[in-house]
Amino acid sequence: MVLKIYAKSILNRHRRRDEWFLDDYSVNPYSGCSFKCIYCYIRGSKYGGGTDGNLGIKVNAVEILEKQLRRRAMKKEYGIIALSTSTEPYQRIEEKLKLTRKILEVILKYRFPVHILTKSDMILRDLDLLKEVDEKAILPDDLQNRLEHGLIINFSISTLDEKLARILEPGAPQPEKRLETMSKCEKKGFLTGISYIPLLPYISDSEEELGVMVKTAKDYGAKFIFAGALTLFGDKQGDCKTLYYEFLKKYYPELLSRYRALYRIFPQPAKEYQEIIEKRARELCERYDVKYKLIT
Ligand code: SF4
Repeated sequence: MVLKIYAKSILNRHRRRDEWFLDDYSVNPYSGCSFKCIYCYIRGSKYGGGTDGNLGIKVNAVEILEKQLRRRAMKKEYGIIALSTSTEPYQRIEEKLKLTRKILEVILKYRFPVHILTKSDMILRDLDLLKEVDEKAILPDDLQNRLEHGLIINFSISTLDEKLARILEPGAPQPEKRLETMSKCEKKGFLTGISYIPLLPYISDSEEELGVMVKTAKDYGAKFIFAGALTLFGDKQGDCKTLYYEFLKKYYPELLSRYRALYRIFPQPAKEYQEIIEKRARELCERYDVKYKLIT
């Protein structure tokens, strides 16, 4: 079922800039997502409304964004807009609705920089528009000497194993398709890279696995790589923790006790684990000569 949502606000201003993605704002044209990744952090988290199988379309998004961006532009409050943080901007319905495209047209009009986060090859449809955003965007003062682009395109991958990806991300284009799409974007001169987020503990996070992932991303033209841990929220039916544990029970029962230990208290794994992943990713990026994160 598709719901019509009349949003009061569409441009969310963050209290602090995100250290990794560098966004000061976020825009989510949809609520929920047809890609249905079982680990999707919005299921069971505070952003989880509308993820119980229903997809929501923010029907007045363009009109509201026009007003909100005009006000911010008049005050010269430029900042990178993440598109999107709690939905997929290029999910299937976008092909017909072109809501993300219309949003990008408004963003271009007010010359805001953008960080696109996607798993979809549908982004290729908008490369003409994205090129203009890239060239015309005004970066916030403190990023002007640190970033050479007004647009960042970031593809998210959790595993390169196509079979596993089909189970975990049933509605999303396959990882190889994402890599090929990234390569096409890179060849057109965009700043593009891969977020290996979430890495799957004890499945896609080993030095060997991650080494292959970093090298593959580099071979396909990634200019940067992020690597981050899996977060698991909620104990109710349909929450990502419940769904992910069901996946483990079926395919990796031997890992269940290790996961229970790792996610014993918090939705994030223990700090020590996160530090190991960060160090491993940094070293591998150095080895394969690709930037770890956008600004280090
Ligand atoms: S593509 Fe992103 S927003 Fe959509 S289900 Fe997967 S993780 Fe969630």
